[in-house]
Amino acid sequence: MENSTISKVFMVTNIVAINIDAYKFFAKEGVYMSDNIKYSIVVPVYNEELLIEESYRRLKKVMDSTGESYELIFVNDGSHDKSAEILANICENDNNVKLISFSRNFGHQTAITAGMDNAKGDAVVVIDADLQDPPEVILKMIEKWKEGYDVVYGKRAERKGESFFKLFTARVFYRLLKSLTNVDIPVDTGDFRLIDRKVCDVMNSMTSIKEKNRYIRGLVSWVGFKQIGVEYVRDPRLAGETKYTLKKMLKLAMDGITSFSYAPLKLPLNLGIFLLAAGFVYLIVELVLRIAGVDVSSENTVIAVNMVLFGLNFVVLGAFGEYIGRIYDEVRDRPLYIITKKVGFDDEDGKTR
Ligand code: UDP
Ligand code: MG
Repeated sequence: MENSTISKVFMVTNIVAINIDAYKFFAKEGVYMSDNIKYSIVVPVYNEELLIEESYRRLKKVMDSTGESYELIFVNDGSHDKSAEILANICENDNNVKLISFSRNFGHQTAITAGMDNAKGDAVVVIDADLQDPPEVILKMIEKWKEGYDVVYGKRAERKGESFFKLFTARVFYRLLKSLTNVDIPVDTGDFRLIDRKVCDVMNSMTSIKEKNRYIRGLVSWVGFKQIGVEYVRDPRLAGETKYTLKKMLKLAMDGITSFSYAPLKLPLNLGIFLLAAGFVYLIVELVLRIAGVDVSSENTVIAVNMVLFGLNFVVLGAFGEYIGRIYDEVRDRPLYIITKKVGFDDEDGKTR
């Protein structure tokens, strides 16, 4: 090669190298990145035509007041009222608004998952559309996030405008779940929360393909990181009725329990051991009495033998349960561990697995 060609090649490679460095620098500073978004707000929507515009206005006002970049991601969960048209209209007039539409109703937790999968922000906030969670609380969450917390969940200090039934069942359920699981899921919190990008990435890595019946508030607790709550008063719904039918509530409760507890699978084993032991002890006592010449009714013997047999049955069922629990664990394929920081390695970023 001629000298001049060689020097040209050098020049070009140098320029490219410098540019890559500059790109990395600016990308970090958020100058070149076209999708450098600070906050993503995920809003699941199911038949909310009565309030979606007001909801958008309140959210926009709050997010504009931060003076930082943001995206509002509405997830239309198969609404069959005018929600879709209203959202499309909002989207057209506001570049900060994005819309994901489902082909049918997949449910609240799945809508949130889709929003999180598509969110680009450094912090992701999930909030209901019905303004029960006041958007202004997001500012408090952001404050905590800037103090260094990775998860800031909204803790309902008071719930206005809910039926006695809803309040009672929610209270019982959150406490039951807490007692059944060894994950520290805070009581009286819903899905209204802010999560840091790294938490969102971990959640997304447990994609809906692996873990279908997601109980998101539980998963967020499960991933760990630095978590804190901010208390707020939950307002009544702005308009319309709850979209959580009793059936959907029960499904959510079952998802919560089955995602984080083996208690139902272990139930037959414990019951079996109890029956087996009680029946066995009785039979031994009876044998001793008979040897001693005491007249014992044989009716009780039949009951005791039954207890032993049923006990055996339940123990076998419980053993199945143990295996099913382990299969379930493997299929879900949750990460074995989540690292937040490594020291003394080439790559010191937090990484899963
Ligand atoms: N939602 C949804 N899909 C559903 C049910 C509800 O996306 O199948 C949305 C709904 O539009 C609202 C949020 O999830 O934004 C919470 O629902 P809702 O307010 O009805 O529940 P509640 O507050 O009564 O528990
Ligand atoms: Mg609501």
